[in-house]
Amino acid sequence: MASAIADALRGLLGEAKVDADPAALAARRHDYWVLSAIRDHVGEPGPSPACAVRPASVADVQATLRWANETGTPVIPFGLGSGVVGGVIASPEAILLDLGAMTAVRSIDPVNLLASFDAGCNGLEAEKAVAAQGLTIGHWPQSVAVSSVGGWVATRASGQFSSAYGNIEDVVHAIEAVLPDGEAVTLGKGPRASAGPDLRQLMLGSEGTLGVITGVTFSLRRAAQARAVSAFETPDMRTGFDFQREVIQGGWRPPVVRQYDERESRRLDARATACLILMVHEGPAALVAAETAAVADLAARMGVARAPADIVEHWLDHRNTVPSWDVFLQRGIVLDTVEVSADWSRIAPIYDDAVASLREIPGCLAGSAHSSHVYRSGLNLYFTFAVQTSDPAAMEGIYLDAWRRIMEATDRHGGSLSHHHGIGRVRRPYLERELGPGGVALLRRVKQALDPRGIMNPGVLIPDA
Ligand SMILES: Cc1cc2nc3c(=O)[nH]c(=O)nc-3n(C[C@H](O)[C@H](O)[C@H](O)COP(=O)(O)OP(=O)(O)OC[C@H]3O[C@@H](n4cnc5c(N)ncnc54)[C@H](O)[C@@H]3O)c2cc1C
Repeated sequence: MASAIADALRGLLGEAKVDADPAALAARRHDYWVLSAIRDHVGEPGPSPACAVRPASVADVQATLRWANETGTPVIPFGLGSGVVGGVIASPEAILLDLGAMTAVRSIDPVNLLASFDAGCNGLEAEKAVAAQGLTIGHWPQSVAVSSVGGWVATRASGQFSSAYGNIEDVVHAIEAVLPDGEAVTLGKGPRASAGPDLRQLMLGSEGTLGVITGVTFSLRRAAQARAVSAFETPDMRTGFDFQREVIQGGWRPPVVRQYDERESRRLDARATACLILMVHEGPAALVAAETAAVADLAARMGVARAPADIVEHWLDHRNTVPSWDVFLQRGIVLDTVEVSADWSRIAPIYDDAVASLREIPGCLAGSAHSSHVYRSGLNLYFTFAVQTSDPAAMEGIYLDAWRRIMEATDRHGGSLSHHHGIGRVRRPYLERELGPGGVALLRRVKQALDPRGIMNPGVLIPDA
């Protein structure tokens, strides 16, 4: 069957665009999800796809999807494979649609502050291209060097500078996509429109289930004229949350505002005695000076202590490291990070409840959190858990149990179950708690309308009926 799929696609697209080399396919069996790494580690790797298609153009994507739709062949879009929720897991009867050959910088327009890219363009390469003209996309996920611009849209990603510059949905100007029947659409036009529902939202967070994103246009910014940093320390998380809320609701917008609990603060800097808060201020020099002074003044009035500013410089220098799960798994350590969000009044109970629950797991080495994206109405929490076991067969159960504890604690206090990594497979069983039965039913109807044969990334995002 696999060879029949590859042969048919070679006939359609030409030899060079269809890869059936076993080693190349094995390398793209899954994304960066820890559970896939655990399965590899315990000697239970999943199957490879039937073949990988590497389209060179929108027309190639259209031809592939038309053929897949006619034959009912599953298609798994693949950007750069840095997703962490199991959005990519190959199956032997599926085509892996690898956007890695569509990497062009299509245009940069410094007058209108717009730049268009092929969806497979590496995020850091995209940023470098606009930076050469004194501009920035302003979207800095930790994975910027290992993720694609199409992947950012497909997962509804967030960058580290989001508190001023917004999340991916705030920087996307237009999205070009191919629907499951092969129809190409461009969604978004002009700086703002009142032309019915915003159809870009169909692709933002669609995780490969509603179509293939082939191009993205971003609304850019001029590179910041000035940057300053500040650091503070609060005795506990609640005081830190109150301080952050006063800063943001008071109208100040530092692009980076991060608050670490005691454990993570010490990991960040040995001098820390309690909860560190790091801020980066950017923009016109006058605004940076005013914001830095205002935040310092607010801290003094609230009794919040200053911390050494070089902690922020250190974070800036080391913020984009990509950890290797294998190093931990080889030591029997099951770990992951899980991000959620909530209103101000719900965030402290979620933090307390989830961390306490994680620390009850036998073998728990760490259950901790920091916040990294702040809004007028609340903020996110980014939990880290690490649990050690001597039994490789127990790893999967420990992993899923830790996730369950965070999801249930967040749900119990009315938080939102994902801030920016998406749903993939790991959160799929919890989606109904997030959207409600009516919301999930609506999502299924959208899926049915766009992809009636269910070819796009089956098993991801949308729970089975
Ligand atoms: C170390 C590390 C740090 C990270 N930091 C962040 C962070 O700060 N912020 C953040 O938001 N995320 C972060 N992530 C998660 C990940 O990098 C993002 O989800 C990223 O947007 C995925 O992009 P990708 O190109 O690698 O997508 P992939 O992993 O290839 O795919 C992810 C999902 O999107 C779908 N998809 C990919 N491309 C397309 C396309 N062109 N059309 C349709 N569907 C598509 C796939 O089918 C899959 O469901 C991090 C991951 C790692 C490993």
